[in-house]
Amino acid sequence: MKSDYHIHTKRCKHAEGEIHQYVEKAIQLEIPEIAFTDHIPLPHQFDAAHRMALNELEDYLNDIERLRLHYPEITIHAGIEADYYDGFEEFLYRTFQQFNFDMTIMSVHFIKGWPKHNWVFSYYFPNRPIHEIYSDYLQALKRGINTGLFNIVCHLDLIKDEAFPLLDANKTELLNVLECVKKHSMAIEINTSGLRKEIKETYPNLNLLPLLEEYKIPITFGSDAHKPEQVGFQFEYVEKALSNYPNIRYATITEDVLK
Ligand SMILES: [Zn+2]
Ligand SMILES: [Zn+2]
Repeated sequence: MKSDYHIHTKRCKHAEGEIHQYVEKAIQLEIPEIAFTDHIPLPHQFDAAHRMALNELEDYLNDIERLRLHYPEITIHAGIEADYYDGFEEFLYRTFQQFNFDMTIMSVHFIKGWPKHNWVFSYYFPNRPIHEIYSDYLQALKRGINTGLFNIVCHLDLIKDEAFPLLDANKTELLNVLECVKKHSMAIEINTSGLRKEIKETYPNLNLLPLLEEYKIPITFGSDAHKPEQVGFQFEYVEKALSNYPNIRYATITEDVLK
């Protein structure tokens, strides 16, 4: 089984189960490495309903340290899922300096300038063409990547509507995003959470695999588990698809340090 580099804990207020149950599930599946990557706290109580508070970060890391001692049979990394949002760069930089996470995975859940709390995957702009909406998202992704603050891009095409794949609607921009990922030596996560949602696809869609191979961008696997039983979710399915792309590399923290 591949390593699972995207796991939440109940500190984010929308995940279930005890943190050790996620580890035990991974051990049961014989997953060699996992990374906890809970949602980072953001300034000004931004989206505070779906993330821990700043004063909980130390306890979060201490919890992970305790698990490491308790479960030596598995490698456990202390990561963070950090939202890129225009204006928060300085905050992220300082927080990363202070807490020195093993890995930072970047997501864009919100876009500056959009109506407040308009999640990228449930946008409502009845009068805007889809390619413009996607463009806002892809440009935000690109700005985030170009900060150089992050190791992995998670759920790359989170915004997608199943009727309009990003690759069809905004191909040039998407290729440009891939170039930026490469330039910053980042990895792209294959996030399986979409397979348990209505969209029923990974993020990104597996039709991006030939491009990842062509651009020589390494990948990671992420279940985005918000429940212990979701650890390693559908990894076999993704591995099967990947068998057609033998040149795609896996990025791991231990062997192939993500910068
Ligand atoms: Zn979450
Ligand atoms: Zn997540």
